[in-house]
Amino acid sequence: MTSPLYGQMMELPLLASSLLSHASRHFGDNEIVSRRIEGDIHRYTYRDCEKRAKQLAQALTALGVEQGERIGTLAWNGYRHLECYYGIAGMGAVCHTINPRLFPDQVAFIIDHADDSYVFFDMTFGPLVEIIAPQCPNVKGWIALGDAACIGEHLSNMSVPVLSYESLIGEHDGAYDWPMLDERQASFLCYTSGTTGNPKGALYSHRSTVLHAYGAALPDAMGASSSDAILPVVPMFHVNAWGIPHAAPLVGAKLVFPGKDLDGRSLYELMETEGVTYSAGVPTVWMSLLTYMKQQNVRFSTLTRTVIGGSACPPAMLRIFEEEYGVQVIHAWGMTEMSPLGTLSRLSFRQKQRSPEEQRHSLEKQGHAIFGVDMKVVGDDGRELPWDGTSFGDLYVRGPWVIDRYFRRHESPLVDGWFPTGDVATIDPDGFMQITDRSKDVIKSGGEWISSIDLENIAVSHPQVAEAACIACLHPKWTERPLIVAVLKPAATVTREELLAHFEGKVAKWWIPDDVVFAQELPHTATGKLQKVRLREQYRDYVLPSATENSV
Ligand code: AMP
Repeated sequence: MTSPLYGQMMELPLLASSLLSHASRHFGDNEIVSRRIEGDIHRYTYRDCEKRAKQLAQALTALGVEQGERIGTLAWNGYRHLECYYGIAGMGAVCHTINPRLFPDQVAFIIDHADDSYVFFDMTFGPLVEIIAPQCPNVKGWIALGDAACIGEHLSNMSVPVLSYESLIGEHDGAYDWPMLDERQASFLCYTSGTTGNPKGALYSHRSTVLHAYGAALPDAMGASSSDAILPVVPMFHVNAWGIPHAAPLVGAKLVFPGKDLDGRSLYELMETEGVTYSAGVPTVWMSLLTYMKQQNVRFSTLTRTVIGGSACPPAMLRIFEEEYGVQVIHAWGMTEMSPLGTLSRLSFRQKQRSPEEQRHSLEKQGHAIFGVDMKVVGDDGRELPWDGTSFGDLYVRGPWVIDRYFRRHESPLVDGWFPTGDVATIDPDGFMQITDRSKDVIKSGGEWISSIDLENIAVSHPQVAEAACIACLHPKWTERPLIVAVLKPAATVTREELLAHFEGKVAKWWIPDDVVFAQELPHTATGKLQKVRLREQYRDYVLPSATENSV
């Protein structure tokens, strides 16, 4: 007789391939629509997608690719990239998505560090491949995501030999069974965006990928459903597009891929023609979409929700989406090391009983942890801080889709089993977390902390400000004081004094920035985050007017 100590249920491993198999078997006719690099719209079904992913798995096997081997991708959001996700991870190799917006040297560093044996790339990245190939001697083949004719047309002058994806998979019939891997085997590899130092790799497992997809699809997380048409604007080369390529097949949702055209007009047109109900992306993308919509005086006819994350969603953006367009904003926080989802701003039954103003205040925060992530904020003395909504501290997380150690690094980043996120946050009595800063971005004025994000949000809530960053400037009396660097909208006339007056009454007096400077643009990382490090370097010698006043 079996011991009653153990449950008696099947022990089927949690595998990435099972996500696509599920969609293909149970939602086989549901569509995947892509705007292609070739310029046209491509559409097919989950069933077609699985067949081609299996053809790719057969092709990789024929090339001699072994389990655990890393295979790189340099590609936009599209159906062939999705086939790479599942064909590579499904056959037991590791799908390593690379951010093509990084500097070529960094891309080469990442490919070399990951030891990628093959790299699949969209034809737009031919020039990048040409630059980096000599620095990547271990890559056995560069495979362009297109057919031979198209490659002949677009990449004929490349000196690097290029294989055709369509020719490669065309040699196989898709009669293939996904192997029963150990669920702890590696599935996907993503490198951090590397605002400081070299990028570091987060190596996900099949188990973490599937658990994260379950978590992402929960109603109080992204809340995906088979009745949705989801357009991920967040790139598939940035933390697996926040898990959408896994969560969408898990629920059988229609997928709409925008390819390389992420301007307001292209996104808007695709959303309208494909009946998109759900989208996800960083604030900068939404800024250009909202600008386009305002200029054209158009509205969404099907979009009901959008996830905004990657950096703080300005409250002004949240208001425009909700009040002017009737689109629910789900503010999300996470990081590469967390697969990436951690928290989402979804109101509980109890929170929904409160006044609209209180609800809005909660929605502006990064939100509640989803099951699978635990979090705490810790003070300078290493002790956990109370969940009072005001105590700032270093944010720590743990859970089955949180990193244990970085790829090919021995030292563990964990502290007592918790991962230090590098973010500074508060948690309120509702369990809503709010990021106030990156730990190195926090402004310490007279020993007290000032949140640069709060001040940036106030600056961008001014109708004439397009974008703003708040950095610390050295101050003889207070050690540091806040400086706002603002980019104005075209034809704006606001002055320094008017912008400073805009802060009055919105924050404590001592939080009001000491100065404002106007800039043409702000530096951003390859994933659209403000590059505060560069900005601080740029303004390192900036002397605040208050620093020269005899104010002691
Ligand atoms: P990445 O690994 O490139 O996704 O970057 C993760 C970092 O982005 C986090 O540690 C945060 O500093 C920042 N981040 C992500 N989402 C948000 C958000 N909603 N609000 C503020 N910061 C965010």
